[in-house]
Amino acid sequence: MGSTEPTANCNGAAAPLGPAVKVDVTEIAKPYREEVRAAIHDRYGGVGPKLVAFLANTDPYARQYAEWTGRACEADGIRYELRIINENELEQKLYEANEDASVHGILIYYPVFGFFPSFYGGSMDDYLRDSVSFKKDVEGLSFTYRFNLYRNIRFMDAATSAPARGPELKCLLPCTALSVVKILESIGGYDLSLPVGERMTGKTVSIINRSEIVGRPLGALLANDGADIYSVDIDSIYHFRRGQLLQTSETPESAVRRSDVIVCGVPVKDYKLPTAWVKPGAIVVNVASYKNVEEEALLQVPGVKFVPLVGKVTIAMLERNLMRLFAQYHAEAAPGKDFRYYLENRPPAQEGPK
Ligand code: NAD
Repeated sequence: MGSTEPTANCNGAAAPLGPAVKVDVTEIAKPYREEVRAAIHDRYGGVGPKLVAFLANTDPYARQYAEWTGRACEADGIRYELRIINENELEQKLYEANEDASVHGILIYYPVFGFFPSFYGGSMDDYLRDSVSFKKDVEGLSFTYRFNLYRNIRFMDAATSAPARGPELKCLLPCTALSVVKILESIGGYDLSLPVGERMTGKTVSIINRSEIVGRPLGALLANDGADIYSVDIDSIYHFRRGQLLQTSETPESAVRRSDVIVCGVPVKDYKLPTAWVKPGAIVVNVASYKNVEEEALLQVPGVKFVPLVGKVTIAMLERNLMRLFAQYHAEAAPGKDFRYYLENRPPAQEGPK
């Protein structure tokens, strides 16, 4: 893809932006999936980790996503098992999978109960997210990973009493948010010449969605990298800046108008981002399963980079997260052996504080 960044001419004036481009993320996902395939082949003798996915809703998008995920995992050597169950069985089945040593990763397709409250406090879906063992939480949505993400703690050793196994005991990040970061990194949204943690410095980002799965963790990730985030939801707008949630006098319109990056995640068919708010040269990422933009009009805005879909990269991040869990907690606890050796010769569990 050619660059559409404005460049200075010999008089110092910015050259005009090129035409807008639509970004196909297939090529961005590819190297991550190749890395997974190579690791399973070279390090684990072709026997990949086992991912159990629970589908306990009737959302056709979730069903479709579950099928795509299954196909990608099988193609890459991951043993994917989709368990279609009734929502009332989920809690028990989740506990069983947490305890089952043959399961290395667990995924739940949300929403299951929506905002229905839990006996234990919060919503049932929040409770389920927190009930997935951090050693199997491929989505990176459980308490341990959320705690670390929102405090910009990037390594597990900093937050748990588990003994350090080296600098690579990394925290997992939520797949969809991580996919947006990887996409931004590869299309010029991140300044890769700056140190890690600074690469979004000076950038303004509007994220239209503040769910616990997509918008809030994405906002935190980008703020941890230095961006100013306007987190827009149906009835509110907040400014996220490096670990802080601040009040703002911006409106959704004024925030979007100054944004270098706009991420839309509105799960509603008739929501459309007003094209007139998008500044030339902005990156617009559509995360929602509905098209939140008027594509034809958006592609008339000079220099815009429009990412219509992120799902392929999200699945690649899911696979990458699973491999990280497998290496950190399942397969490589016995160096030089594969996970079957480890399972047969398991040391006593070394859990962090509950
Ligand atoms: P959700 O229903 O949990 O959250 C949606 C959020 O958007 C809520 O906070 C809601 O209040 C807010 N919202 C609704 N209308 C709004 C409006 N007009 N303006 C601003 N905010 C509004 O959904 P989710 O899990 O965050 O997913 C959002 C979308 O992204 C869905 O369409 C989902 O299918 C999709 N999704 C895609 C991927 C992927 O990888 N492609 C992954 C996860 C979710």
